Formats: sequence, structure tokens, C-alpha cells
Amino acid sequence: MKDMASTASYDITEHDYDVVVVGAGGSGLRATLGMAEQGLKTACVTKVFPTRSHTVAAQGGIAASLGNMGPDHWHWHMYDTVKGSDWLGDTDAMEYLAREAPKAVYELEHYGVPFSRTEEGKIYQRPFGGHTTEFGEGPPVQRTCAAADRTGHAILHTLYGQSLKNNAEFYIEYFATDLLMTEDGRCVGVVAWKLDDGTLHVFRSKMVVLATGGYGRAYFSATSAHTCTGDGGGMVARQGLPLQDMEFVQFHPTGIYGAGCLITEGARGEGGYLTNSEGERFMERYAPTYKDLASRDVVSRCMTMEIREGRGVGEGKDHIHLHLNHLPPETLALRLPGISESARIFAGVDVTKEPIPVLPTVHYNMGGIPTNYWGEVLNPTKKDPDAIVPGLMAVGEAGCASVHGANRLGSNSLIDLVVFGRAAGIRAAEVVDPSEATPDVPRASLDYALSRFDDIRHANGNTPTAELRLEMQKTMQADAAVFRTDKTLAEGVEKMKGVAAKLDDLHVTDKSLIWNSDLMETLELTNLMPNAMATIVSAEARKESRGAHAHEDYPDRDDDNWRKHTLAVVDGEKVELDYRPVHLNPLIGHNEGGIDLDKIKPKARVY
Ligand SMILES: Cc1cc2nc3c(=O)[nH]c(=O)nc-3n(C[C@H](O)[C@H](O)[C@H](O)COP(=O)(O)OP(=O)(O)OC[C@H]3O[C@@H](n4cnc5c(N)ncnc54)[C@H](O)[C@@H]3O)c2cc1C
Repeated sequence: MKDMASTASYDITEHDYDVVVVGAGGSGLRATLGMAEQGLKTACVTKVFPTRSHTVAAQGGIAASLGNMGPDHWHWHMYDTVKGSDWLGDTDAMEYLAREAPKAVYELEHYGVPFSRTEEGKIYQRPFGGHTTEFGEGPPVQRTCAAADRTGHAILHTLYGQSLKNNAEFYIEYFATDLLMTEDGRCVGVVAWKLDDGTLHVFRSKMVVLATGGYGRAYFSATSAHTCTGDGGGMVARQGLPLQDMEFVQFHPTGIYGAGCLITEGARGEGGYLTNSEGERFMERYAPTYKDLASRDVVSRCMTMEIREGRGVGEGKDHIHLHLNHLPPETLALRLPGISESARIFAGVDVTKEPIPVLPTVHYNMGGIPTNYWGEVLNPTKKDPDAIVPGLMAVGEAGCASVHGANRLGSNSLIDLVVFGRAAGIRAAEVVDPSEATPDVPRASLDYALSRFDDIRHANGNTPTAELRLEMQKTMQADAAVFRTDKTLAEGVEKMKGVAAKLDDLHVTDKSLIWNSDLMETLELTNLMPNAMATIVSAEARKESRGAHAHEDYPDRDDDNWRKHTLAVVDGEKVELDYRPVHLNPLIGHNEGGIDLDKIKPKARVY
């Protein structure tokens, strides 16, 4: 932490809680609900209204081996997740995810999520990329539970209602700026700025849960909301704590060309397919078994290769077509109403008649704040690579448990939100004692947070926030892309160092405290930047190809040297890298019903 000489004077309102959850997306709400249900005094602080969190945009669905539409088993779901992660995920966390998934989905059903139904009244499930049967030997499985193509919307509304019912307290349109930490590294609260009246608030608590979502907006073209600015990662980085596996950024194959809005993978799950300028269904060549339903990194690379080889569609031969026009209009209206509307609005396309123009678009961050499978944040040391930061948890896209490793399977994020949101609640009930006093906030930590806020508010340099943000986004888009080379990455790192250095030269025009979007976007940029720096520096260092990290100079996966998690500690333009071993042990053995470890041994990843 930097020494701050000046102590800004702001009137502060103090609050005391057992737990403060920052973020009200699927993971934040599930954690909030779990904490409140167990009798912990819980606050949820969120910069947007809960049901406007990015989770609301999740279309396709949530993976769990319910087996409603044919045989399925959690072992198969775990195998697919391990293979999807390109053998970088932590075995214990992946097992926990696949094993707990059905429970977590039935809980959602009982809480009131209006899932689509089969004729027998069971939860409807659709196929999604990389989800298979028989440890990848059998046909694709229908594992993705869906509420039409508005699954995230349905989940958010239900969890918000349930959290209110359980007396969780919401602080809506409060922007959390920094963590409060003791000198010996315990988290004791957060500082937040109330956007509508400009007041500042200190939330003292025994546990802080970061559920702040991803940082898609570090890139120029992303499917994620403008609010996805990696604020949790920024807060953690400022405490000198590491971010993990940040080089793994998922490009979704089907962002609408030009607009970046997502067309769910569920569209291909329902029978949609991709074609090039020759009208060829090219995925049949690259992934003979699973074709258009190979995993996302694979499909995105194949699309990029088709375009590079001159077989892109359109005037610039720079995108690909997604066909749904062969599907019955009734199916489209029933199963994919939302994306039919998006295609009409953002591409001017009637999906019953014409293909949708699409392009791989930044969609998800596999990396994030390292945690164990309880959501407890890790600060690995050489002696103990699993050492935790007391008082701090991270869940959802902000965290890295790590279940997605080098590549996330579609519909595995929504399930990650609820499984690990729930796990955080279970763990907090064990480690937080409601009868204990809330820890004191050290003055130095509060001073640091307030001075930083004040410095940014009065930033008087020469660079407008929007200009610097664009420079960062363009650099990341060009140099930390679907395909990477030593040259692009080295150039990208140099450029990004220059970009990050300009944070000291920012200019905030509006100095007021009420609805000051200039100040908020600047605070967000100070969060995006460490996430972006960690991403590109970690990517440059990783001399192999794995999952979403496709390095043209090192086209193969190198398990001997690189089956390890990257840890990046970011301080301005400086990034220090270290590594931590992948967890290879499951939680339960084969004899107790666990997976046969031979089944998940590393092998070539083909679909
Ligand atoms: C278009 C789209 C479609 C998707 N479809 C699917 C799908 O079908 N299936 C699937 O599994 N995954 C899908 N994903 C991925 C998945 O939806 C996301 O990974 C997930 O919703 C992230 O949830 P979250 O709870 O981590 O964070 P979010 O839903 O992003 O919520 C973040 C929360 O943090 C709060 N916050 C952030 N910063 C601050 C701050 N500084 N102070 C206070 N509050 C803050 C915000 O207000 C918000 O409430 C999709 C993603 C996108 C973008």
C-alpha cells in the first residue's frame, strides 16, 4: 500500500455487518441469500440496481447433470469441465462444481426460477458446446437448464426477491472504491461512495465477499455490460494481492458483427450452424464429432482461421454467418425469442429468413481473484500455496476457484455463480461469529482509500478518461487477441506500460459528488487497468498454447512446464509474476463414488 501524506476530510457514515457482499449479480445475490438465510447480518452493496447486473443478460442457461432429457452423470459433467479447462482447472473445485450443481439448480427451482419445461413438466435442458456423455466418447448431452433464452434474467429476479425475504439489506447505487485491511492482512470492510447524494460510507464487517463480475470492458469489443470493469480485481491488486490466470480471456464465437451483442450458444444448441463465404459448414472439417458444438475457444479459432484464409463473408470478408433460418419459426419463437429480437435490432436480420453476421467477441474472464472452493481468497506463499486472506472471499466471474482453467464451457458460469455463492454462505456460517464485535478499521487503511478517492476526484492532468480507456481497449483488442505471438504480446506489453503510466495524467472535469459519471468512469478505469496489465503480461510469459491462450509460436500445450496457475501482482506499470501448482486431488475418492482419476488424465483435446 502506498503511503498517503494527506488525509482528505469527508463526512463518513459507518455501518456494521457480519458480512458485506459487494455485487448483486447471480453470485453476489446467491451469496447474500445464503449468508442471510443462516442468520448472518448481511449487507449487499451494488453500483447498479441488482436486476441490472450483467447476469441479467445471460441467455443460454445453466449446466447441471439432471438427466432430464437423457442419461447424464456428474462424472461426465466433471470430465467435460476438466477437458474444457484444458487441464488447468483445480480438480477439487471442478468436482465440487459438478457434484453440487444439481442441488444448486433444484434450489433455484424451489426458490421460484421459472424454468422452461419438458412435456412431463421437468426442467428443460438443451445441448451446449463441449458437454458430452460417456467421458467424451458418447453423443452430446442436453445438460443446460434454461428459462427460454432469458435464464440469467429469471435467476436474478428470483434471487433478489428471496434475499429481500430473508432480510438482507441492500445498498443500491453505492460504488465500492477500496478494501479496508489491517496491517497483518485481514480484510475488515470496504469504503463506498453513494452515487445519488455523494456521501461516503464505511462498511465494517467480519467478512467481505467480492462478487463484482468480470472485466470484459478492458477490450474494445465485448459482449459484457459497460459496468463490467473488474472493480474487485482492482481493489485486490491495490492491496498487493495477486490475480490468477488472467491470460485466459474467452472469445465467444457469436457476437453480432459490429455491435458485439451476444447470440447465445444455445442458438447452436437448438440446431444453428456456421458457414463461410462458400456456404460451407466449415466446423465439420475442424471438429468432426461435435462440429458447431465444439468448445468456444476451438470454434472461435476456426472462425478466425476461415476469415484469415479469405473465406469470411460480407464486403470486407471479415465475419461469418450463423444460420437459424432452417429451424421451425415456432421453435425460434419458443426457445430463442430474445436473440431473435437482438438480431433484428442490432443486425437488421429476420432470423427466420436470413443468417446472422457474427464474429468472435470478448465474453468471459477465466482468470480473477484466486480462491479455494469455499470462495476464500488466496494469497499464496512459497511455503503455503493455499494460504488464505482472512475476512475476504470472492465469487462469480470476479473470482478464480479455478473451475474454468484455460477455457470455460458454455453454461458453466451461471452454475459457478450459484454453486460457489452458496458455498461462500456455508463457509461464512462456519467462520463468522455473529456474537463477536466487528473488527476496528485501521486509520491508515481508511486514509489510503479516502486520499485515493480525493486524488482521483481532483485529477488535473491532460488526458481525458474516455481517451485513455479507448487506448487501453484498442491495445488489448489488437495485441491480446484470439491468436497471439511473441511479437504481438511483447509489443502489447510495451504499449500497455505506456497506457498504464498515463493514469497519473488523467483529467476529471466534474468535481461534484452527485451522479458524477466522469468520476465513476475514472475510478472504473483505475480498476480496468491492473486487470488489463495482468492479462497481457501473464500472456506474454506463458510459452505454450492452452485453452483460450492460442500462442502461434508455441502451438502445443506443454504440461511439463506450464500446467500451473499464473499469479500476477500489479503495481502501476509493474507486474510481478509467480506461479502456483494446480490442485490435482479430488475431494472424494473413487470408492466413495468419486470420479476415476484415470478418466481425467491429461490428453490431447479434440472435439
Ligand atoms: C451477454 C452474456 C450472456 C451470457 N450467457 C451466459 C449463459 O447463458 N450461461 C452462463 O453460464 N454464462 C453466461 N454468461 C456469463 C455469465 O453471465 C457471467 O459470467 C455472470 O453472470 C457474472 O456474474 P457475476 O455475479 O459474477 O457478476 P455480474 O452479474 O456482472 O454482477 C456484478 C455485480 O457487481 C456489482 N459491482 C461491480 N463493481 C462494483 C463496485 N465497485 N461497487 C459496487 N458494486 C459493484 C455490480 O453492480 C453488479 O451487481 C453470459 C455473459 C454475457 C455477457
